[in-house]
Amino acid sequence: MAGAVAAESFGLWGGRAAPSGRVDIVIIGAGAAGIAAARSVAAMGRPYALLEASSRVGGRAVTDMQTFGVPFDMGAHWIHMPGLHPLSRLGKKAGFDIYRAPDEPRLFINGREGSDGEYKAFDDAIARVEQAITAAGSAARDVPASNVLPKLGGPWGSTAELIVGPLSCAKELNHISTLDFARSEEEEVDDFCRQGFGTLITHLAAPLSVHLDTQVTAVDLRGRDEVAVETSRGILRCAAVIIAVPPSLLVRERLRILPELDTGHRAAIEGISLGAYDHIAFLLPKNPFDLKADELVFFRSDGRRGCALLGRIGGTDLHSIEVGGDLAVELAGSPAAAGAFAREVIARECGRSAARRIAKVRATAWSREPFALGAFSCAEPGTAHLRRALAKPIDDRLFFAGEHTHEGLWGTVGGAWLSGERAAKQAVRAVAPRSGPSMA
Ligand SMILES: Cc1cc2nc3c(=O)[nH]c(=O)nc-3n(C[C@H](O)[C@H](O)[C@H](O)COP(=O)(O)OP(=O)(O)OC[C@H]3O[C@@H](n4cnc5c(N)ncnc54)[C@H](O)[C@@H]3O)c2cc1C
Repeated sequence: MAGAVAAESFGLWGGRAAPSGRVDIVIIGAGAAGIAAARSVAAMGRPYALLEASSRVGGRAVTDMQTFGVPFDMGAHWIHMPGLHPLSRLGKKAGFDIYRAPDEPRLFINGREGSDGEYKAFDDAIARVEQAITAAGSAARDVPASNVLPKLGGPWGSTAELIVGPLSCAKELNHISTLDFARSEEEEVDDFCRQGFGTLITHLAAPLSVHLDTQVTAVDLRGRDEVAVETSRGILRCAAVIIAVPPSLLVRERLRILPELDTGHRAAIEGISLGAYDHIAFLLPKNPFDLKADELVFFRSDGRRGCALLGRIGGTDLHSIEVGGDLAVELAGSPAAAGAFAREVIARECGRSAARRIAKVRATAWSREPFALGAFSCAEPGTAHLRRALAKPIDDRLFFAGEHTHEGLWGTVGGAWLSGERAAKQAVRAVAPRSGPSMA
């Protein structure tokens, strides 16, 4: 039974529930990927320990129920491409109100809705920008998306570039790999969860035993038959480990891997980096945009400080200005500046009296969250092929999971979930012969 578990340091777990007796697999990070991995390992009948640095589960899928009195998803909100992963199905089965998102965005231009001709110009510009980037990536050219843009010019060109770049990929176009963009899967439908996407992910962790407030500082593979997992509450030894934390934390060595990563994995965690994307949420009564529930609004932009608006979230007065890329980085430094920006946008598009009705503001700042250091991944030009390297185990004992390891559904909770299931299968297969029976 070499390599099953050594519980030698359990005395260091502060007298609180420590991973019981035997643990084959340690899973680091209780975001969507870690939760999916733990559920899969448990379903296969293997002992596991799920360790989470913060005092809650969900990671970048988290719903704030307090600030506005209605659910506010501080991270992921859209259940993208529900046909490609099980989350909508699992939500419905658990009794959540999962419903289809409106499929057409609205378009506003300095206080008025776009005309039919302007809607068409807008749609055409987006289609041309997307096609140009996809064509380059599909031809296996991995270059900056900004290098292959069609010469559209004018406000429609910059509006389309804003939407396809910072608002979809959380990065400016010169930091977006054409190949990564082309490989991202597309299904033209999204769902919403009325109770909040974070609430749903938290619910899916309910059957699991999670060790909160347990930050892993190092994973040491130098022992022959075991992996030593060093945490803020002691050392845990196991047969295999799944690291389901964002690559930003590995690059900054908030979690160290010993011995040093090989060049392929090192290049991958550096290249598949997280961009910046944030919500500036607020209550805006009296529906000044005349929106139906959950409508997404784009504004024609001259390319500077552009944003979008998600209106009447869940049919309530909650609205959210969406910012990405450089603007998100800038506003993350100051909640006051984020609030002022939201008021400025509402005043421009709906008038000063509407802006004065903004009741409360809460802005996220994911690039400054210590256990995320960014919003979601998008490969830097020239590195898209390295996502695949991240799905490769090291020494059949270290497995990576997380949205950044999924080649087609990167940047999404669905991708994170599937990556957790994949890593769990890999890890259980790897420890099976070493730690005895009980594989279901
Ligand atoms: C503002 C925003 C909007 C988004 N919108 C959408 C959307 O609409 N739809 C969508 O599908 N996706 C969206 N995303 C992306 C989505 O949230 C992520 O892709 C997904 O949640 C990532 O899950 P994960 O498990 O890979 O990582 P995480 O959710 O980041 O989970 C990692 C976990 O590891 C923990 N951790 C970190 N370091 C340690 C350590 N040293 N020891 C122990 N634990 C540690 C963290 O606390 C965290 O709980 C959005 C993200 C943001 C930020």
